[in-house]
Formats: sequence, C-alpha cells, structure tokens
Amino acid sequence: MKAQPKASHFIDGDYVEDTAGTVIECVYPATGEVIARLHAATPAIVEKAVASAKAAQTEWAKMSPTARGRILYKASQIMRERNRELSELETLDTGKPIQETIVADPTSGADSLEFFGGVAPAALNGEQIPLGGDWAYTKRIPLGVVLGIGAWNYPQQICCWKAAPALVAGNAMVFKPSENTPLGALKIAEILIEAGLPKGLFNVVQGDRDTGPLLVNHPDIAKVTLTGSVPTGRKVAGAAAGQMKHVTMELGGKSPMIVFDDADIESAISGAMLGNFYSSGQICSNGTRVFIQKGIKDKFLARLKERTEAIIMGDPMDEATHLGPLVNKAQQEKVLCYIEKGKAEGATLLTGGGIPNHVSSEGCFVQPTVFADVTDGMTIAREEIFGPVMCVLDFDSEDEVIARANATEFGLAGGVFTADMTRAHRVVDQLEAGTVWINTYNLCPVEIPFGGVKQSGFGRENSLAAIHHFSEIKTVYVGMGPCEAPY
Ligand code: NAD
Repeated sequence: MKAQPKASHFIDGDYVEDTAGTVIECVYPATGEVIARLHAATPAIVEKAVASAKAAQTEWAKMSPTARGRILYKASQIMRERNRELSELETLDTGKPIQETIVADPTSGADSLEFFGGVAPAALNGEQIPLGGDWAYTKRIPLGVVLGIGAWNYPQQICCWKAAPALVAGNAMVFKPSENTPLGALKIAEILIEAGLPKGLFNVVQGDRDTGPLLVNHPDIAKVTLTGSVPTGRKVAGAAAGQMKHVTMELGGKSPMIVFDDADIESAISGAMLGNFYSSGQICSNGTRVFIQKGIKDKFLARLKERTEAIIMGDPMDEATHLGPLVNKAQQEKVLCYIEKGKAEGATLLTGGGIPNHVSSEGCFVQPTVFADVTDGMTIAREEIFGPVMCVLDFDSEDEVIARANATEFGLAGGVFTADMTRAHRVVDQLEAGTVWINTYNLCPVEIPFGGVKQSGFGRENSLAAIHHFSEIKTVYVGMGPCEAPY
C-alpha cells in the first residue's frame, strides 16, 4: 500500500495501534486503490489520548508564549522543506490535483504555524485597568485540552488552522481527522515533535461519526472546534452546550457571488470558476449561487462555457491537471444526484453534467458543470452540493439581488464583482455572511478572520481572533487599601 502509516494514531509523541478498532480503508479517489488501512479509536485509545494531552498541558501553559511560538515556527519551516512530499500525500488522501496541493495545502498549514508562532506574545497580553486607588489586570489563560475535528476537503490545512492557535495559546489538542482523509494529520504530528513540541500536546486519533461523540463528551475536553456540515455541527454544538464546553463551528454554506453588468467579465468568470471548481468544488465558502445581472448574461455564459470546457481533468499527480476526482464514491453519487435534480427541475445544463469518459471508472470524477437559468426555489440553488456544480441565476436590480442572496439559512461567505466601489461596499455591507470578497473570491490568508454566521456556524479561525477563541480572560482585582464592609 502506497501510504500506510506506522500505526493509526499518534499519542504521547509516538505512533500507537489498537487493532480492536473498526477498520478504516483509505482509498485513493482517482483510482479506487486502497492506499492504507487504519483502525478507528477504541475507548481505550480515546482515554490514552486525552490523558496524555491533559498531563502535558500544565507545563506547556507555563512556558512563555515566545518559547511556544518558536516551536511552531520551526514546524512551519519543516513543512515548507517537505512541501512536495506532504503535497503528494495530500493528493493521495483527497484526490486533489498536485497543481493545487503544492501551492495551497501544506503551505497554508505552514502559514498558520508561522503566523501564530509569531503573533502569540502580543496576542496573549492582558490589560491593566485603573480604578482610582485600586486597579485590575486581565490575563489570557488557556482552556485546557481542545478537541479538533476535521472535514475531508483540506485535511492538512484544517489540522494546522486548529492546532496552531490552540497550541500557542497554551492548550493541548486531540485532533480527529475525517475518516475519509486520515493521513495528513499524522505527518503533522510527527513534524511538531521533530520541531520540539513536548509529547502529548498534539495527539491524533482516527475515527468516524461514532468515535466523535466519545471525544466530544469526554469530561476532560474543554473545547471542541469542528469543521464539518451543518447537521454534524448541530449535534456537536448541542452535546458541548450540555456540558458548558466552548465551541467553534466552521460549517457549510451556499454562498452568493454577485456580478454586476459593469464588472470586468473575465475577472468575474475567474472568480466564479475558482469559487466553484477549485478542489472539485469541495470548499465550504464556494460562491455556488452566481447571480448575473441580465445585461451581461449571454456574454458571461458564452465565455464561461468556453473556459470551463478547457479545464483539464484527470490524473491528480500530473502537474497539468486542473481538476481531480471527488473524495469518494458516495460524494460522487451525491453530486450526480443533484445534477439530475437540476435537470429535472428545469435548469439549463450549459456544460458538464456527468462522469468524464477519459478517466478510470473506479475514480470518483464529475465533470465541471454549469447550470444556467437557475431559480431560487430549485434544490440545486438551496442545498450545499459540495461538488463542481455552478448555478447561474439572473437578476435585475441591486435591492432584489441582495434580498435573494440573503434568502438562505447559510451565512458563510459571499462576493461581489463590480467596477463601482461605492456599490461594492454598499452591497457587501448588506450580505449576511462572515467573509465577503470584492472583485476576487475565496482568498483566505491566515491574517484575516474566517468563519460564518447564521447556520454556517460561529467563532472565527485565523487572525488574532482565533487566539481569543482558544483562550479566556481571567480578571484580577487588586485592592490597594483595607477591605471595607458595611457590617
Ligand atoms: P461531516 O459533517 O460529515 O464530518 C465532519 C467531521 O465530523 C468528520 O471528522 C466526522 O467524522 C465528524 N463527525 C460526524 N458526526 C459526528 C458526531 N456526531 N460527533 C463528532 N464528530 C462527528 O462533514 P464532511 O462531509 O467531512 O465535510 C464537508 C462539510 O464540511 C461541508 O458541509 C462543508 O461545507 C463543511 N466545511 C466547512 C468549512 C468551514 O471552514 N466552514 C471548511 C471545510 C468544510
């Protein structure tokens, strides 16, 4: 097998196995080949991982933020040195083309480790509050053991986006990758140890939707940060709330991208393609409802079709390939089913719509697909598809499109393309979304906060905001005189 790790889990600085756990088969989505066999965590593995994290956290929290940050920075350097190897592993794990993974996956993980390694000393400062004679000060204290649960679309990035701010703030982390993509996080655990992270502070346990609750409900877990779907988010946030645990929820979306008739059309098409086809459309913040002002509809669609049909789909390890398969057969079937619904409900299939015939039938490929004449009530305009399916809807006026863009339970992201900057700011101001882009789409550098509103979740990843979600404030009141009481 191409990518078999030494063992399924990484606990207390080393690989650990427990073959009593359910078998997790890791399948390369481009060919259907089994590339690794792992085991889901048993209750004994969960205990071991949480206990080791708890034991390690106390001393870690006593270290200076600069000393903690230095270790993360070292890990970021190792990730960059091994970018090729890590990118190939990410491609095997997810099926995403090497053209993408080499620029977007380990590198964005490394960015996160580098950024949080550097900002921690300042971000963890407290305040001094004058109170007349008395005074108070605040401290940012860690939460304890944080549980990270990952989705399968960006396994290495998600792992680092959670681990870096959590660790630098003085917490320990137990990370459970998606059962579909279990490999990348194990390598990151190895790298963190190599960079000098004390053992136990970052433990990886494998498992699925049955393993997750064992971890979420563990009394020694202080916070859960989940990247996943809205239904999973409801379950996890509900369980955590019952035990007063902190949560960050990075969930799904059905985001609007609005293109006004004064927009640079080539640039808007680039945004629409990036925001629908990158990672085969498996991106939470994708602008899957592309609203086109009617005056430019025909021109936009003609050029979009031409550019979409030039996309190279195939072997993800070939650097010329733009688009790989979906993560697994179940996701491929789900996406094909949505395409059939789009056709049945009367949308116009502009291009794509099926499985390409030049690729392995064992692979999980779906052609980049564009539907035009989509209306708000259609299933494909309402539900998250999580595949390379773009829905193009028409609109007349600004007020109309804002109302329609917001008519969704989701609120993760949104975008606007226009040459009129006053309008751009006016429109994004009214979009109900956590992150919005003007004249670009889906750029999420570590410096900017990322997260959703409405059903798309709460809490923010990246930026200084993330540090605040992995720490809490302790207030110290200092009495400078005798303590006075009325009795
Ligand atoms: P999913 O919800 O099926 O699974 C996510 C993770 O939760 C997996 O690790 C899974 O094993 C675990 N899980 C499932 N049930 C659980 C439970 N009851 N308790 C604890 N853990 C449980 O999501 P997915 O299919 O892996 O990923 C796709 C979804 O993730 C999409 O909806 C996408 O929009 C969303 N996503 C969001 C972001 C974001 O930052 N907002 C990023 C990427 C993906």
